[in-house]
Amino acid sequence: MPYATTNPFTGELVKTFPDATDSEVEKAIAKAHETFLSWKQTSFAERGAILQKAADLLRAEETELAGLLTLEMGKIVSEAKAEVELSARILEYYVENAEALLAPQNLPVLNAAEGKAKIVHEPLGVLLAVEPWNFPYYQIARILAPQLSAGNTVLLKHASNVPQSAAAFEGLMRRAGLPQGGFTNLYATRSQIELILNDPRVQGVALTGSEEAGSSVAAIAGKALKKSTLELGGADAFVVLKDADLKKTVDWAVFGRHWNGGQVCCSSKRIIIADEIYDVFLDSYTKGVAALKAGDPADPDTTLAPLSSQAAADKVKDMIRKAVDLGATATTVGPKVPNRGAFVQPTILTDMSEDNPARHWEFFGPVSMVFKAKDEDDAVRIANDSPFGLGGSVFTADTRHGEEVANRISSGMVFVNHPTMVKADLPFGGIRRSGYGRELTGLGLKEFVNHKLVDVV
Ligand code: NAP
Repeated sequence: MPYATTNPFTGELVKTFPDATDSEVEKAIAKAHETFLSWKQTSFAERGAILQKAADLLRAEETELAGLLTLEMGKIVSEAKAEVELSARILEYYVENAEALLAPQNLPVLNAAEGKAKIVHEPLGVLLAVEPWNFPYYQIARILAPQLSAGNTVLLKHASNVPQSAAAFEGLMRRAGLPQGGFTNLYATRSQIELILNDPRVQGVALTGSEEAGSSVAAIAGKALKKSTLELGGADAFVVLKDADLKKTVDWAVFGRHWNGGQVCCSSKRIIIADEIYDVFLDSYTKGVAALKAGDPADPDTTLAPLSSQAAADKVKDMIRKAVDLGATATTVGPKVPNRGAFVQPTILTDMSEDNPARHWEFFGPVSMVFKAKDEDDAVRIANDSPFGLGGSVFTADTRHGEEVANRISSGMVFVNHPTMVKADLPFGGIRRSGYGRELTGLGLKEFVNHKLVDVV
């Protein structure tokens, strides 16, 4: 796709951006490598000062930065501001914690008389980040803050529909004092991803996006013998046990499924309800969804955003049609969404039988799959019956029991009494077709370092 800003609410093509040339890509790699050689020598205090300044700038420029998200991918104003704040918190997390997390680690030895051994964590070099449009700043912060803290430098290929958000973050980092080449936004084509990963100065790639993008980029990285991390799709289970607080749980389900227009990898896409409370829960949930207000994402009263593009909306509608052809019941909910804008009418899918392949799909929009569980074991079985394994949640009045159920759910993250949450101080990532590797915290910080053994005899 060409790099362009298209307002998903008005459909207006606002601005286009030319693709990078191969020569620009080559120059960016060279600069990123040159900067790496000096950046890796900087102290944690120097890196931290730049990240803190960037966090301060994010907060100072919140209104303009949030406005770009609303313009380019249709995020509602309150969520756009929350994303700016979350990005600032991620930068600050590494200001506060990177040095301790990367401290050399003495190894236990079997015989002290034979000497001592330690692991030191050294940066690898230039990395490529391939990112999606659904959280344009958070996705950058999530890879940039740990990697700069570790001493690496980063090239960015952001999604083609958020070119201004990508450029804004790059400009902000430069103004925060990051040397040129520390973080470079490139309007790279897909074929240039191969060019970048085949360059010997580039050491790895972190991709967030679809399975198709992940498998394609990881294959290129594998062929070039470069490490990759993949944060891919998800269809998180939202398990409601029979003793769950009805009102709070319904509110979380409505939010968990519909924030960011329903376009979150870790949205609560599969709501699994205990038989005893199924009818009453579904009734309240349907009313909660119906109360969402679809409209202009720039209007503070709007609570349901349009999708990021008309193509995205068309794809979700097509998937709903196919699910129904395969036997599901689709119930549209709420007042009719506006004719203008890339909207999808909120839809609840029920009767998703065991042989309906749609129960294993990821609907990237306001579509809730609802399942009735015979009992708790059945709820866990349905939760684990997914090709994905990103997040998940369990709702119950008995949190200790909730933890026991959480332990039985097979995914990268499970929350008790909260939909899968994104926080600056929690790791993020999944298993199976949701990808591999982790971002954030010490786990993300150590994905692209050389865990070097130093053994003194
Ligand atoms: P996408 O189409 O895969 O795009 C993500 C990025 O990959 C974009 O920069 C895109 O560039 C690039 N890309 C796409 N296809 C590619 C290919 N074949 N080769 C190389 N690069 C390619 O994903 P999306 O539609 O933007 O995002 C939705 C998906 O991302 C969902 O499945 C969602 O669950 C997942 N996601 C996962 C996480 C997570 O942390 N696990 C977070 C957010 C989203 P172009 O824009 O130029 O095509």
